[in-house]
Amino acid sequence: MSPSRPRRLIVVAGTATEIGKTWVAARLLRELRAEGRDVAARKPVQSFDPDDALTDAHLLGDASGEAATDVCPRHRWLPIPMAPPMAADSLGRPPFTIADLAAEITWPVPTPDIGIVECVGGVRSPHASDGDAISLIEELQPDLLLLVADAGLGTVNAVRLSLEAIDRGAHVATPIVVLNRFDPTDELHRRNRDWLESTLPVEVLSSVPAVMNRLRPS
Ligand SMILES: [Mg+2]
Repeated sequence: MSPSRPRRLIVVAGTATEIGKTWVAARLLRELRAEGRDVAARKPVQSFDPDDALTDAHLLGDASGEAATDVCPRHRWLPIPMAPPMAADSLGRPPFTIADLAAEITWPVPTPDIGIVECVGGVRSPHASDGDAISLIEELQPDLLLLVADAGLGTVNAVRLSLEAIDRGAHVATPIVVLNRFDPTDELHRRNRDWLESTLPVEVLSSVPAVMNRLRPS
């Protein structure tokens, strides 16, 4: 990663694919910008269905005010919905490593207050030929790691497995769990949140405004 690291580097990881990492990251970027903070978004690699109108890089770039090709380098766009190293192989592209992805992350000048890096898939999803989201997290050493999870059935299992894997594989502070799609009127969602909070030494947030509060200087 370039030496002009943002003052605060946030990595957004997920318990699974399609869990809302991009949605949470994009909302945070918009709200931070609305508060006058300088932000930038990065997606080190993305694979996608070529029939999709917009990629994660487009959605993040719309939110951060950057071009999609600044968010994800054009040569890391892989138009086939497979884990990135598989997609690259299937497309006949050369293999790449976690260190390659990390080295390609460059930040705007002047350095933004907050940089948000979105991972691919879940924490153990392959990102490169030699590593997964946890390898990238270890390489980037973010100031804050957000673990985006669903709120419904299966959430406790997915969060516990993800936290254990992160704890084993990366030397970073315990992630903050963000329960995306949390509905306070849903008893299961409330019970899942309470269970996680009472059984794990982890902070559990259930809305983007709650994450915003957490990001405000105290
Ligand atoms: Mg995404």
